[in-house]
Amino acid sequence: MKLVVASNNPGKLREFGALLAPLGWETIAQKELGVPECAEPHHTFVENALEKARHAARCTGLPALADDSGLCVNALGGAPGVYSAHYAQSAAGEAKSDARNNQKLIADLAGHTDRRAHFVCVLVFVRHADDPQPIIAEGEWHGEIVDQARGHEGFGYDPYFFLPELGLTSSELDAAEKNRRSHRGQALARLVKRLQARR
Ligand code: IMP
Repeated sequence: MKLVVASNNPGKLREFGALLAPLGWETIAQKELGVPECAEPHHTFVENALEKARHAARCTGLPALADDSGLCVNALGGAPGVYSAHYAQSAAGEAKSDARNNQKLIADLAGHTDRRAHFVCVLVFVRHADDPQPIIAEGEWHGEIVDQARGHEGFGYDPYFFLPELGLTSSELDAAEKNRRSHRGQALARLVKRLQARR
């Protein structure tokens, strides 16, 4: 069974492929099938992931898997949320930058004592573009934002995302450890269970 993955991130493609292969799914990146990236115009993770999954299924005629993820900070009312990748972007078309996003995050949190934050990942699986019953699986990973970067692994906000129970930032975890604990790892494990349970 072939499955198109609505992502061009090599790390995610590897991870999805490894977990879905034992269930009989052959995962194919949407780029390989000529699927153009689609807009993510919505205010929620689930709406954006649904849009991406339906778009990839519509373009290919295959079942599709999409994800949307980001960082939600309590003291900022859940921001940057679905805008995590572009948080510091001031003009349309300006390149994304993890460094500037992190700089803005720390500046916005200056003076706040509540440093709680969590990563969110929503995964959506559709059997076809108009599937009335998509599988939706969510994962959350809770931590705190620190002012000083630590660690060299991962990407995005990882160097500032501190896990009190480990005394480490997510950037100080190796990839396997991060996948076991992360929002994406949790969502993927839930998705796999739901796929296995589907008759
Ligand atoms: P995406 O939609 O999964 O590509 O993620 C959107 C943005 O959320 C990324 O560009 C990062 O800024 C942030 N993000 C999502 N997951 C992570 C993570 O595991 N570590 C650090 N940042 C993340």
